Amino acid sequence: MKEVKVHDKVFELYISAEKIQVRIDEIGKALSEEFRGRNPLFVSILNGSFVFTADIMRACDMDCEVSFVKLSSYQGTQTTGKIKTLIGLDMNIAGREVIILEDIVDTGNTLTHFLEILDTYDPKSVTLVSLLTKPEVLKDKVKVDQIGFEIPNKFVVGYGLDYDGLARNLKDIYQLKGG
Ligand code: 5GP
Repeated sequence: MKEVKVHDKVFELYISAEKIQVRIDEIGKALSEEFRGRNPLFVSILNGSFVFTADIMRACDMDCEVSFVKLSSYQGTQTTGKIKTLIGLDMNIAGREVIILEDIVDTGNTLTHFLEILDTYDPKSVTLVSLLTKPEVLKDKVKVDQIGFEIPNKFVVGYGLDYDGLARNLKDIYQLKGG
């Protein structure tokens, strides 16, 4: 089995680039059927989703737009601890049909925060699309509308996903060996 070493850890091939593309074409078709004529706005959550976003958009046969956002965490002035703020949203999304693109939903915490913030911008509808989810961890916390692959609770890299900054450029998805 194909393996890669990233920093100090060994990862083994888990989902091939070919399998990813087949699934992306299916999701692109489904989104096009649902949203054709409605000019949806893809909102891609950086950093990890940039590869997925590029492929999903090209798998869609309809008018659509894209905006990239990032969630930055900072220590609040109150004792509530970490507060996430949205940076980079350069579009007016009021009344828009928004399709959120995530690389992976793990605990769902990031997405929950993001949805709360997004709601204040008054979109017409919000659809969640994630390439990967970890159902063991997520449980029923957030409902993801379109899922590429449901995976076990193991750390993965590649196809935009990093381990300490590296491995985003790998075409396939790799899983931590023995992890
Ligand atoms: P959540 O808030 O859902 O727990 O975590 C979401 C974020 O954690 C993802 O956007 C991603 O940045 C990171 N993450 C969660 N699981 C993995 C994983 O298996 N591999 C990598 N590379 N990042 C992960």
